Amino acid sequence: MPAPVRYRLGSIDVVVISDGSVWMDAGAAFGLVPRPMWEPYVADVMDELHRIPAALNCLLLRSAGQTLLVETGVGGKDPNRPDRGPDGYGRLLPELAALGVRPEDVDIVINTHLHFDHCGGNTVRTASGEAVPAFPNARYLIRRGEWEAATHPNERTRGTYFADNFLPLQASGRLELYDGEYDVTDEVQLVDTPGHTADHAAVAITSGGARAVYLGDVIHHTVQLERLAWIPAFDVLPLVSLDTKRRLVEEAIERRDLLITTHHVFPGAGVMEQDGRRRHWRDVPPDSLAGPLAEDAR
Ligand SMILES: [Zn+2]
Repeated sequence: MPAPVRYRLGSIDVVVISDGSVWMDAGAAFGLVPRPMWEPYVADVMDELHRIPAALNCLLLRSAGQTLLVETGVGGKDPNRPDRGPDGYGRLLPELAALGVRPEDVDIVINTHLHFDHCGGNTVRTASGEAVPAFPNARYLIRRGEWEAATHPNERTRGTYFADNFLPLQASGRLELYDGEYDVTDEVQLVDTPGHTADHAAVAITSGGARAVYLGDVIHHTVQLERLAWIPAFDVLPLVSLDTKRRLVEEAIERRDLLITTHHVFPGAGVMEQDGRRRHWRDVPPDSLAGPLAEDAR
């Protein structure tokens, strides 16, 4: 299990913590794209069931005196899922503890959307089997439309919306729904990035002239930022995903954003670079003082 790593963004430390990983069906991850085209990108990591490991990268940061957690991974309520990844999952709480962060220290929890692999750690199970908020003092920020989708799932979406991950937040009074876009602090904004779900929200973090964007499930593989037409079968609004990605990639190149993904191999952070007519993803190692990010922060 990789240890947490840190990126310096202006005056903010953005810490990436792994909850572990899950196995993800590669065909579903690449949607309409024929296998001979996508297979070279994942051949070295695909297992005999044609699954690829999906990291569960979560963020910890402090802003305006508050401790924020972005995503909570799969969590530990169900340790025996058949898609349990090569790193296992449910690592978030022990990793936070190793950093000296207790559950009661977290002030705000943010979910990009409510699929199980992004919010499973929102809650923990008591000895009697009841699901309760894992972070007892936190406000849990969830976009209203996503809440509606999760609490009224249809035949296609109900396999990923599990009530125990979010209904206890409402029952305990920890839930806070917002509409549209939302400024969590002066430095942290929840931004409209529809496509994967209709009300998916990315997280923009701005400090000292530098910007990072936590993408959630805007993509499942970084090649999907390079080839905009490559869109996962998971997305409920694929043509909207296309528009969202085009906008984000253009902004990211223009502003030299640090992009942080949920499912790219830990820590899942990189930049998009224009190379003639082509666009490339480049991994950015943690604590790197080289490159555009550090220059902008000075
Ligand atoms: Zn996901």
